Amino acid sequence: MKHYRFGGSGADRYINCAGSTALIETLPPKAGSRYADEGSAAHHLAALCLQNDEHPAEHLGEAFPEWPGYPVTQEMCDAVVVYLNAVLHEMAQTKEAELYVETQFELDVPGAEGEVGGTVDAMVYHPKTGRLVSFDYKHGVGFSVSADDSKQIKFYAAGAVFSKPDWRISALELVIVQPRDRSLAGLPDDADRETKLGIKRWSMNPLDLMEFSGEIADAVAKAKDFDNRVFSLPDFSSGSWCRWCAAAAVCPLREQEVLRAAQLDFAHMTAITADALPDPKTYDMDRLGQILQAGQILNGWLNQVQEYVEALVLAGQPVAGWKAVEKIGRAKWVSADEEVADYADMVFGIDVEQIRPRKLTTITEAEKLLKAAGATKAQIDDFKLRFTLKESSGLTIAPTSDRRPAVNAIADAYSGINLTAE
Ligand code: SF4
Repeated sequence: MKHYRFGGSGADRYINCAGSTALIETLPPKAGSRYADEGSAAHHLAALCLQNDEHPAEHLGEAFPEWPGYPVTQEMCDAVVVYLNAVLHEMAQTKEAELYVETQFELDVPGAEGEVGGTVDAMVYHPKTGRLVSFDYKHGVGFSVSADDSKQIKFYAAGAVFSKPDWRISALELVIVQPRDRSLAGLPDDADRETKLGIKRWSMNPLDLMEFSGEIADAVAKAKDFDNRVFSLPDFSSGSWCRWCAAAAVCPLREQEVLRAAQLDFAHMTAITADALPDPKTYDMDRLGQILQAGQILNGWLNQVQEYVEALVLAGQPVAGWKAVEKIGRAKWVSADEEVADYADMVFGIDVEQIRPRKLTTITEAEKLLKAAGATKAQIDDFKLRFTLKESSGLTIAPTSDRRPAVNAIADAYSGINLTAE
């Protein structure tokens, strides 16, 4: 699949931060990450199933040659099924519906021919009504991607629309399907079915795509301007798009912001030592709260730095103070369970049940088994009510924006104690 200098996944970044593309291109090529490879394997599975009218389970255990380390698992099948169902449900809306899978497109941007483009995972066009639905599958877990006004899916929509000039589009819907989105677990029981499955929809006026294409063309022209000149701090602009920026670990603006956000009075990271860090007890409550909030930004940035340094060192590039080492190994059984248990029983007299206890599966797995056995939602709820208990392991802290209600920590700590004076 062709890689474009200005693609859909980076659209939010290069539209907002003109200097980012040039800064990224100063870095050595990045090795593929575990998550990216697993996601690519899942995308491939989804495309195969749509193209050949197959069920993902038919590929269970299969490893695709490009991503040999990520064979098709049950979890991958379950996630891909949600996406396939969303696409096929759209196909069923009209008899004439047309399905396009993995459609590669290039946007016509003057001065950047062949540099701006991407691939739409799937699109369904209804010629009679003029409705077009563009689908984007996300296999990720940790970061919940919103469909609302997303530059990435608008980019794919522009690709879908402009790659088929004969279409007469009257309604345009953009859909992100992210079935493994970890935040789904925290949704209220009365959330609608699609939301619970990680299907997010956003409708836009097809005419607005003209304006968006202009936005892309302007952003590409600004980014390409750095091909001929060096950049400086004002050329960067930070925001939510920095999260996926490959240059975040070396970005001068991010480094400055991280220090400012953490309220550390250091001119540069190199001045930070354990002794030079201030004692938290010297801070007032407001500042402590602000520092913890800044710490979340700092953590994200440190992860990006660590990932970057790891890639460099593993590629053989020297980074002062760091080296490549073998991961600490964990012992694992290499013989069949029965063989181990029988030997321990025969030689040491250890009870087989002790060394190989029968264990219930996890609650999530049990729920899947119940679903597969045809249990209704009410039956599953009843089963959980009978046999499970959701218990908090205690109090913690969270930003005030967190969806959980605030708990009165003092009242909680002293509950059950009679505090009346004698
Ligand atoms: S980290 Fe953010 S500000 Fe820095 S180059 Fe990347 S997108 Fe721009």
